[in-house]
Amino acid sequence: MKKPSLLTQILLAFVIAIILGAIVGPDIKVVQPLGDLFLRLIQFIIVPLILSTLIVGVAGTGNVKKLGRMGGKTIIYYLATSAIAITIGLGIGYVLQPGAGVDIPSESVGDEPVTEEQNVTDTLLNIIPQNPFQAMVEGEILQIIFFALFVGIAISLVGEKAQTVYRFFEGFAEVMYKITGMIILLAPIGVFGLIAPVVGEYGIGVILPLLKVILGVLIACLLHAIITYSMVVKAFGKMNPLVFFKGIAPAGLFAFSSASSAGTLPLTMKNAQENLGVSQKTSSFVLPLGATINMDGTAIYQGVAVLFIAQFYGIELSISQLLSVVLIATLASIGTAGVPGAGMIMLTLVLTNINLPLGGIALIAGVDRILDMFRTSINVIGDAAGAVVVDRTEKKHADEDKNLEYSV
Ligand code: ASP
Repeated sequence: MKKPSLLTQILLAFVIAIILGAIVGPDIKVVQPLGDLFLRLIQFIIVPLILSTLIVGVAGTGNVKKLGRMGGKTIIYYLATSAIAITIGLGIGYVLQPGAGVDIPSESVGDEPVTEEQNVTDTLLNIIPQNPFQAMVEGEILQIIFFALFVGIAISLVGEKAQTVYRFFEGFAEVMYKITGMIILLAPIGVFGLIAPVVGEYGIGVILPLLKVILGVLIACLLHAIITYSMVVKAFGKMNPLVFFKGIAPAGLFAFSSASSAGTLPLTMKNAQENLGVSQKTSSFVLPLGATINMDGTAIYQGVAVLFIAQFYGIELSISQLLSVVLIATLASIGTAGVPGAGMIMLTLVLTNINLPLGGIALIAGVDRILDMFRTSINVIGDAAGAVVVDRTEKKHADEDKNLEYSV
């Protein structure tokens, strides 16, 4: 008999967990260690995964100095669309209220939320590590992202002499991808160990909110694609949105089934060049960079998930906390590796930063694979939209440069 796919296994584990949880009741708590095992495995990979993939992603995009204008434009575009994405995610989370009406006391599932808030200036200044090694030891993710971006840029500025460093991180990143893949294989066991005790304790009613989360992420992804991408490719890329969506559909579908934007990259490049007319020069810079740092779908997911978890525990988020979510989730999406499940790993970072209970991950984990499929498609389509926009504006510059030459 053929082994069922990972998605089938996870869904099966999810259903069994609900049934057993409902039948056995609170005593099902004995399986909790299986869930904790999975959560610990997720946490253990975060630091080395982000460090290596981000360094390689940024350094691998070529000579940053030569690509100055294009690089700046690309990064601004990617940051702006990610911030829009997370805002849409928060908006939908606010309207749909997926976690409302459950009100589980936070101390019963996860860590105590701390109420003290950091202001935005401190949060921003805090991104710069005083000591990058300390940041790694203490798991300060934003500081690690900051360090990794600099190392990546510097490697490509140094060029030849830094090749050994680049190779090292390249190999290291591959090893980390491998480990992440191995951990995700354990997801069915983790999902079982996380969901069964929750259902056992609180009854089957906790499942409905999860369905709402799926619906919320789906609606937010569709809105982002239809509104944001249609507008940017039309306004800045001078392309009919229908042509755009049709051209990138194969990569979008592959991303949906693989849940890996890094794995989809070759197809994204092919679609962008052949169907969307993006030049090779632009696509070979913008798309690999996008697959590393531009994760609009992940940003959307984080917005919906944060509100869901806050509502679930009956915690009100202040405006300044919501603003921090936009900021932190934008940065977290940069640090998310383009492999299955990475977005959930980064969700721990956003939750810790605004002091929401980490136990919330336990709930999301059960349906994360499905959310991952939606968000990865958007991640990939967003990269392609960026390539169309940057390519168009580059061509305009090239034309202007030419006109200048003629007029002299
Ligand atoms: N799986 C996503 C991707 O590869 C990342 C995530 O988990 O959000 O783009």
